[in-house]
Amino acid sequence: MNQRFDAVVIGGGIVGATTAYYLAKAGKRVALVEKGRINGEQSSRNWGAVRTQGRHSTEIPMMLDCLEIWRGIEAELGENVDWRQQGQMRLIYDRGMRERSEAFMPIAREFGLTTRLLTPREVADLLPHYDPRDCQGALFTPTDGNAEPEKAASAFARAAARLGATIMEFTAALSIDRWNDAVCGVETERGRLACETIVLASGVWTSRLLKPLGIKHPSLWVRGSVGRTGVLPIEMRKLVVWGKCAYRQRPDGRVNIAVAEDGFHDLMLDSFTYGLKFLPLAKRNWRNLRFSLGKPMIRSLMAEFDDFTTHRTLDPRPDWTGLARAADRFVEEYPGVGSIQYERAWAGYIDYMPDELPVIEALSEPNGLFVAAGLSGHGFGIGPIVGKTISDLIVRGRSDYDLAPFSSRRFNGG
Ligand SMILES: Cc1cc2nc3c(=O)[nH]c(=O)nc-3n(C[C@H](O)[C@H](O)[C@H](O)COP(=O)(O)OP(=O)(O)OC[C@H]3O[C@@H](n4cnc5c(N)ncnc54)[C@H](O)[C@@H]3O)c2cc1C
Repeated sequence: MNQRFDAVVIGGGIVGATTAYYLAKAGKRVALVEKGRINGEQSSRNWGAVRTQGRHSTEIPMMLDCLEIWRGIEAELGENVDWRQQGQMRLIYDRGMRERSEAFMPIAREFGLTTRLLTPREVADLLPHYDPRDCQGALFTPTDGNAEPEKAASAFARAAARLGATIMEFTAALSIDRWNDAVCGVETERGRLACETIVLASGVWTSRLLKPLGIKHPSLWVRGSVGRTGVLPIEMRKLVVWGKCAYRQRPDGRVNIAVAEDGFHDLMLDSFTYGLKFLPLAKRNWRNLRFSLGKPMIRSLMAEFDDFTTHRTLDPRPDWTGLARAADRFVEEYPGVGSIQYERAWAGYIDYMPDELPVIEALSEPNGLFVAAGLSGHGFGIGPIVGKTISDLIVRGRSDYDLAPFSSRRFNGG
């Protein structure tokens, strides 16, 4: 196999699928290559929050436009992705949480967000089954929303295919070919794909594709866990709530509950390569950091994670202790549900950057290489506009946004 495309997108998560969709919509011949199944890793495993609330101010202009995409997504793709614009709520229990919530208000005002601080009574009105005993209020953004992670990226990939994109599952990109100072193709396990444009939307694997090119992408893998209950006899207005745990009621009445505050890092070789860059972040969050030394370290010592065909879909072990604690906390907040049991649970590895900002850029060396990765735990909501932005950079040669804060130069001494 030696095919030619205008662009090859590596990675079939929300970023890669939306990039392929917008490129195909612009008339480009595009291939989307995925080492496992489309939407297998982070993009199908997250909480589904689509939020402006709590975001870094540099991401908010993009996120506001992305909300417009989400509002029209079901009509545009012709598929249901369970999009609901019913808000994001951050419950306040203590002084630290109140200070962090209040600190977001000037940013909210600057960008004209609908965010406001609620009293405990207002919280109780919005969440009738919630017990507000020790709640001091909440930060609330009614125009934020949520969608079903198991559906969204797959729907974008199917829409891209309808527009003529070639979707190649179980096709790992092994390396990037370059000719002088420009890219000229992707070597995959099923042959070579010739192209002058390559997009890395490869999530946690991105540093491994960039390393042979001498480009540093210091992301660490952080494990997030989610459990799904059976149908619960409560109505939670289908918004995303961060309380003592995080939760979202699905349209079928089941509730996804997540271990909210902990950053759980499985130590591996990258922890030592990039660890120092994460010290400031670790110092700010040291109370919530947890580490584990186990199989991921052995696997990284055996170079398993350097081979893109070894782990078709990363499926890490859920943090059962954390999920049990999250269930207890949920029952504290909703005593009416009695005890709860999870019907299923899963985990996903997040590609975390030291400054919690993504890399979104057209590299100049090598020319023709675009990177959209490192979305640091909040890339599902903003993913579609990241894909559209990369498509704009390729098709129009420019973007409507200031992408300087998202350049990889911040890690590569430029
Ligand atoms: C538990 C959890 C909760 C989260 N909650 C939220 C939330 O509520 N809201 C939010 O906005 N974000 C959330 N996130 C983060 C969000 O899921 C991610 O930021 C987003 O999905 C990243 O999308 P992506 O397309 O960059 O990466 P991914 O979805 O990880 O996709 C990358 C794809 O690239 C493929 N790939 C990698 N290397 C190769 C190769 N060499 N060849 C071919 N294919 C390759 C991988 O197999 C993978 O399918 C959460 C994440 C987790 C794990």
